[in-house]
Amino acid sequence: MDYQGILNVIEDKLKGEKLDGEVATYIPELAKVNPDKLGMHLTSVIGEEFHFGDSEERFSIQSISKVMSLALAFITEEEEKIWERVDVEPSGDPFNSLVQLEHERGIPRNPLINSGALVICDILVSHLKNPKQEYLDFVRKIAGNTTIDYNEKVAKSEKAEGYNNRAMINLIKGYGNIDNDVEEVLDFYFDTCSLSMSCRELAQTFVIFANQGKLLQNQKRVLSEVHTKRINAIMQTCGFYDEAGEFSFRVGLPGKSGVGGGIVAIYPNMYSVAVWSPKLNEKGNSTAGMRALELLTEITGSSIF
Ligand code: GLU
Repeated sequence: MDYQGILNVIEDKLKGEKLDGEVATYIPELAKVNPDKLGMHLTSVIGEEFHFGDSEERFSIQSISKVMSLALAFITEEEEKIWERVDVEPSGDPFNSLVQLEHERGIPRNPLINSGALVICDILVSHLKNPKQEYLDFVRKIAGNTTIDYNEKVAKSEKAEGYNNRAMINLIKGYGNIDNDVEEVLDFYFDTCSLSMSCRELAQTFVIFANQGKLLQNQKRVLSEVHTKRINAIMQTCGFYDEAGEFSFRVGLPGKSGVGGGIVAIYPNMYSVAVWSPKLNEKGNSTAGMRALELLTEITGSSIF
């Protein structure tokens, strides 16, 4: 498949379309990003790399980090114990909704919304000696890249303003589903969200989920096949806030988005692909990012469906 030719066509088409949206501003540091950035990178499972635009520039991956948190939880905690505390159903609600959490008595709908990720972070805080460092080491390992790091400014900016997440974790704690100190868990959660990565780095990190849980560099297994299946299934059904159905419908690949404007998607046994454009639609997903991935599966004529 001529992926580079296809990416070039996508770049041209995006330039000719009116793809509006708003940059996230509720985290003050994110509001400073140039809204016109656009980049895309595809890594195939045989290690080929294709890209265009600002694909080498790092941005705030935000909720995309929730996928790596879940992967690390699979390695550190017995699986049944995870599912006693978090469900695996799409939420159909915004990523930071408190209403559903109250109805469901502190059991978050899935690990890819904020409430679920907070519980996953609590599990990691319980099991890891130095969660911040060990999480970073894990991401660097699956990325095959030791330069990936947190962005302290973004983390600080969110720590100062994260009222909704603070309310949420206290509510969950009230229902007995947070074991550790809420501030310690929140701090770790905000750090994970502040990871700064480029489209190239994201595609190279997520290729493990297209490669049945094995690292591309040496084919060493990091995640079991079953855990890889579960992560992909949860991305498919829960990876796009209350727009997961729309993303499935238009793109047809498992993926995850973040309010920094990044989206990463995988095609099992074929490729992983990351796209970045900071302008978000009203559901919080990158407008141009969704369109780029829709074009990719349309032009290649293949998706998991
Ligand atoms: N750190 C953000 C928050 O907790 C992540 C949101 C997102 O990317 O969906 O609100």
